[in-house]
Amino acid sequence: MNTAHDDVPPRLQAPSPAAQPAAAGPALAPIPSPIPVAAIGASGRMGRTVVQAVEAADDMRLVAAVDVGWTASDLTGPGARVAVDFTVPTAAESNVHALIDLGIHAVVGTTGWDSEALARVRDHVKERAGIGVLVAPNFALGAVLAMRFAALAAPYFDSAEVIELHHPAKVDAPSGTAQHTAQGIAAARAAAGLGPVPDATSSGMPGARGAVVDGIHIHSVRSRGLTAHEEIVFGNPGEQLTIRHDSFDRTSFMPGVLLAVRKVPTHPGLTVGLASYLGD
Ligand code: NAP
Repeated sequence: MNTAHDDVPPRLQAPSPAAQPAAAGPALAPIPSPIPVAAIGASGRMGRTVVQAVEAADDMRLVAAVDVGWTASDLTGPGARVAVDFTVPTAAESNVHALIDLGIHAVVGTTGWDSEALARVRDHVKERAGIGVLVAPNFALGAVLAMRFAALAAPYFDSAEVIELHHPAKVDAPSGTAQHTAQGIAAARAAAGLGPVPDATSSGMPGARGAVVDGIHIHSVRSRGLTAHEEIVFGNPGEQLTIRHDSFDRTSFMPGVLLAVRKVPTHPGLTVGLASYLGD
């Protein structure tokens, strides 16, 4: 495990010669079996769980487990072909750009992405034919289904709000899952021709109505004892529908992470959200 604090390999700095690709990159060699996997952020709460899950998977081999200060050779030396990033919002984008330059597929669970950062990755990955990057705000299969159910319900309700609840060590708010959920609800409402959600609030304290993503309000709760939870509340005159998902333990994310490791090499380009990996 690397814990050295020398060069982080961000694309924003000059990449080392070993990390520098040709314009479209060399042709990628077939992925060996078992799949050589690197964990980035391996000492973190999610990273430790990823390390255990990859080590327990018959079709994968953990070849690198690195943290802050990782270098290209930590991953290319042992031949990593897929890297799983659970780090911090300030590091994940530069990690992904470095992985693209190295020709390593990326499975990213780190949250805190905005549309500009995703656009930069989308543009960059086009330069490396065949490289796949998955950025998924939630790898729990139940959470992915909850998002799908929310988009399904959205056209039929006047009101929709999202409440996300997490452990107090989480650094970003609202959660990436809640933002993704709100975007899905907003897109479904727009496609159905619905207008803004009803809300007569004309005065109040800042933040009382939460954050607003594409017109959908999101409320963030941070409390000891929680892991990761989400409630989507829909309202019509005289009725309410609540969709709730609870991750009680970080192992809930691992089936989705392992599925992503297996599928990312066959999904070139940037994919956002695990949903598009399911069912194909
Ligand atoms: P954490 O315990 O703080 O772990 C983050 C790890 O990343 C730490 O070991 C940290 O090392 C390391 N790190 C920081 N900067 C790095 C860099 N530049 N390169 C490599 N490693 C670096 O956080 P966590 O609870 O595991 O969560 C990690 C991320 O996953 C968060 O964004 C969280 O929201 C997200 N998450 C996503 C899902 C999902 O399903 N997509 C589920 C749960 C959590 P130091 O401690 O030395 O700084």
